[in-house]
Amino acid sequence: MLYLGCHLSTTGGFAATVDTAAELGANTFAYFTRNPRGSRARAEDLPDCRKAMEKMNDLSFGKLVAHGAYTMNLCTGKEEDRAFARSLLEEDLRRMAALPGNFYNFHPGSHVGQGADTGIAQICEALTAAMAPNYPVTVLLETMAGKGTEVGGSFQELKAILDGVGRQDLGVCLDTCHVYDGRYDIVGNLDGVLEEFDRVIGLDRLKALHLNDSKNPFASHKDRHEKIGEGSLGMETFRKIVNHPKLRGLPMILETPNELPGYAREIALLRQLEDGEQEV
Ligand code: FE
Ligand code: FE
Ligand code: ZN
Repeated sequence: MLYLGCHLSTTGGFAATVDTAAELGANTFAYFTRNPRGSRARAEDLPDCRKAMEKMNDLSFGKLVAHGAYTMNLCTGKEEDRAFARSLLEEDLRRMAALPGNFYNFHPGSHVGQGADTGIAQICEALTAAMAPNYPVTVLLETMAGKGTEVGGSFQELKAILDGVGRQDLGVCLDTCHVYDGRYDIVGNLDGVLEEFDRVIGLDRLKALHLNDSKNPFASHKDRHEKIGEGSLGMETFRKIVNHPKLRGLPMILETPNELPGYAREIALLRQLEDGEQEV
């Protein structure tokens, strides 16, 4: 089963967002847990969340991939700013518990000159403190483009965070634009990159994908998303991705520069790229 979706606004509630996703041809979606500037958010509406989960079950949706605020930097230089970021993470994870069984994805952070090792230690500390013992949602670290001082631009850095926290309910979301920008050649050698991921991290930790083409060439560390098939990754790469046996069943989220009709077109296009029904 191919689980495809895009970023959607949940301001009308989760149940209504499931309907919107279904209208677009999606069977999963992503949403920001709070506005991009990272201001405080209300507790989730539990009856609405339950209704959404029922609808998702009826429509055979894959898991949702919530996205933490871009501004939440768990390894920023100032302790008071880190404390604020940690409080956002804790609040996000508490609210996500209203949607059990789904994913919460976030950008590990930027170490702003403190060095990657210090950044990784601070990220591990924040995750260890925020993840409750029986937390019902899997937390995903996003693969980053390595822009500026971003942590998570290499599989080794992500592995260091996974090891530092040491929990099985922590995984990885692979962003196709970011890894290509970050010098993993999924255009020339998708199999090789997945083998490297398996060697360094373990493919069992790969839980979701962000499908984005890139406006920039290989290893540019820029992180600028392009529409599917219109950037340096190209349509052939996405054909390989949606048909790859090792990626089957993972939720795939579009973060391309589109409005809703554009997302509907890309979802339809990706479904066409999938070679027939390959039910086992
Ligand atoms: Fe992201
Ligand atoms: Fe992404
Ligand atoms: Zn990006």
